[in-house]
Amino acid sequence: MDHVLIATAYNNETRIYVASTKNLVEKARIIHSTEPTATAALGRLLTVGGLMVPMYKDNSLVTLKIEGDGPIGSMLVDINNNGSLRAYIKNPGVYIKNNKTGKLAVGMAVGNGTLTVLRDPQLKNAFISSVALQTGEIGDDFTYYFTLSEQTPSSVGVGVLVGNEVMYAGGFIIQLLPNASEETITKIEEILSKLTGVTNMFKEGMNTIDILKLLSGGTEKLLSTTTLEYHCGCTKEYYETALMKLDDEFLDKLINEDNGAEIVCRYCNNKHYFTVEDLNKIKQKKK
Ligand code: ZN
Repeated sequence: MDHVLIATAYNNETRIYVASTKNLVEKARIIHSTEPTATAALGRLLTVGGLMVPMYKDNSLVTLKIEGDGPIGSMLVDINNNGSLRAYIKNPGVYIKNNKTGKLAVGMAVGNGTLTVLRDPQLKNAFISSVALQTGEIGDDFTYYFTLSEQTPSSVGVGVLVGNEVMYAGGFIIQLLPNASEETITKIEEILSKLTGVTNMFKEGMNTIDILKLLSGGTEKLLSTTTLEYHCGCTKEYYETALMKLDDEFLDKLINEDNGAEIVCRYCNNKHYFTVEDLNKIKQKKK
C-alpha cells in the first residue's frame, strides 16, 4: 500500500520523509492516459505531494502547480492532509527521451516556468509562494523551493520507473533543522553522493523503512506513517457551484441548444450530468 513516513534523525537535527507511490502514479497514468515522459513528470509531482502530506498538518488542502513552456504545459496536484491526492496534466501525450542517455526527458518536457505552492487556496489568508523552475526535473525544483521559499535547506529525491505501466515510484525529502551541525551536514552529503536513485533502491528490494535507515545512518526515530491514495472526491454539488458562476446567456445556451450539460471532472474523468430542469433551478438560485 502506498504510504509516507516521517521521522527525525541525527539527534533531531533533521527531518526525513520517505514515500512509496507506485499505485498513486499508476492510477494517475490510467485516468489521464499519460505517455511515459508525462507519466514520469506527473508521477514525480504526485510523489512530492505524497511526501508533503505530513508536512503541513494545519493546512487541510495544499495545491502544487507547475507551469512550464515545454510540451506538457501545466500540471496540478491537490493534497489533502488525510493522505488523498489528485492530479491533472494539460498535455498527457508527451513521450520524449534524452538522445544521449536514453532516459525520459522530464526537464525538457516541462521546460522553463514556475512552481507554485498554495496552502488552503480556498481561504482568504491562503499562503501562496512561487519560484522559477530550475531544471524542470521536479526534484531539483522542490529542493530550490524549500530552501528559498520556506528557508528550510532540503534535498528532494523523487523517481518513477515506467514501462508499459508504472513499475516503481517513490521519493524522499531530507530537511535540515536550524540546529543542524556541520558534522551532520557532512554526513548527509556523503550519504546523498552515494545514492543510486530511488527507483533503483526499490528495484533492489528496499522498502521505505530501509531507505529511511540508509538516509539517517541508523539514527532515525519514526514519528508516523500515513496511507496515500488517489481520490478525487468531486460531487455534483461542487460543479453546481461552478455552473452558478456562469452568466445567464451561457446557461440559456446549455438549456435551449444543448438540452443539458455534461461536465467531465479534470482530476478523475467522472461525468456529472445536468438536465434542463437542473439548469433552470441553478438559474433560479442565482437570483
Ligand atoms: Zn473528480
